[in-house]
Amino acid sequence: MSRRSVVRKTGWIQKLCSTTFPKITTHSRLNQETGRRSTLVAAGCLSQRYREDLLQEIPELDALLGSQDFSEIVPLLDRVCREPGKQLSFVQPKPHYQQFEDQEKQQSTPRHFAYVKIAEGCSNMCSFCNIPMLWGLLSSRSVPSIVNEIQQLVSRGVKEINLISQDTSSFGRDRGQLELAELLRSISALEGDFWVRLFYCYPNTFTGDVLAAFAADKRFYAYLNMPFQHIEDNVLRKMNHKINRLQIEQKMREVKRILPEVAWRTTFIVGFLTETEEVFEQLLEFVAAGNFTHLGVFTYSPEDNIRSFSTLG
Ligand code: SF4
Repeated sequence: MSRRSVVRKTGWIQKLCSTTFPKITTHSRLNQETGRRSTLVAAGCLSQRYREDLLQEIPELDALLGSQDFSEIVPLLDRVCREPGKQLSFVQPKPHYQQFEDQEKQQSTPRHFAYVKIAEGCSNMCSFCNIPMLWGLLSSRSVPSIVNEIQQLVSRGVKEINLISQDTSSFGRDRGQLELAELLRSISALEGDFWVRLFYCYPNTFTGDVLAAFAADKRFYAYLNMPFQHIEDNVLRKMNHKINRLQIEQKMREVKRILPEVAWRTTFIVGFLTETEEVFEQLLEFVAAGNFTHLGVFTYSPEDNIRSFSTLG
């Protein structure tokens, strides 16, 4: 039986692509060195982004799978094996992630903590970001399937549950309403010795209802990961963030009033196209004021498939 390698790699920004290409070619070199015929499939956002170009660039690839249809991966691989020598592409030009919730997941983290992905994709269309193009619009899981997964993890001894997605506070919006507060209350109803951390909440959808549900259960750890990306109004507008500095400061005060001990993590992007020296100094002052416990800083990356690149040059 032939071996099958599925390389799921990121095409999010070009810098990361440059590390991904060598990894794929390393897999294909292994084929040559061992003399064994193994099937090589690239899956994920790199395939989504470069599609047919990737097949031409790396002729050793047998197939591409984009950022959806993961539930179909076994039949797709079977087809690849039935049609050897033919490069196949299973990439939809406009991806939309279909949740496959009934499938059991294998925990790949150490046994005391786990990441639980509650949604995929994003509908925010920040002008510097290509995730909506690569993963499609927001696609939320159902509350029962998430609660069920957490229950199983807790019963196996997992202590820390990390809720993640690209835009966690918009959870449920693709069904017509924000449902993060409902999800938190449902998790709260579970018994057990565990705690929960929230990642990637955006200030404009992090509602008072969410904050109340969060504060009502001590197992929701007073840790908040809320990316702001900038604090200057003009830059925020050009980034297509529907929030300004005043609203960010109000949101921070609101959260700290309810959760005075909150460990706050944020991220900023520096070097955005309309950021001047003066604006950068404003950002530095904001950070120096000691608002955050953890801070991640990224430099703007001028990807050719993002809106800021085509509209701001
Ligand atoms: S909210 Fe995050 S994932 Fe969504 S478009 Fe903005 S930066 Fe990208």
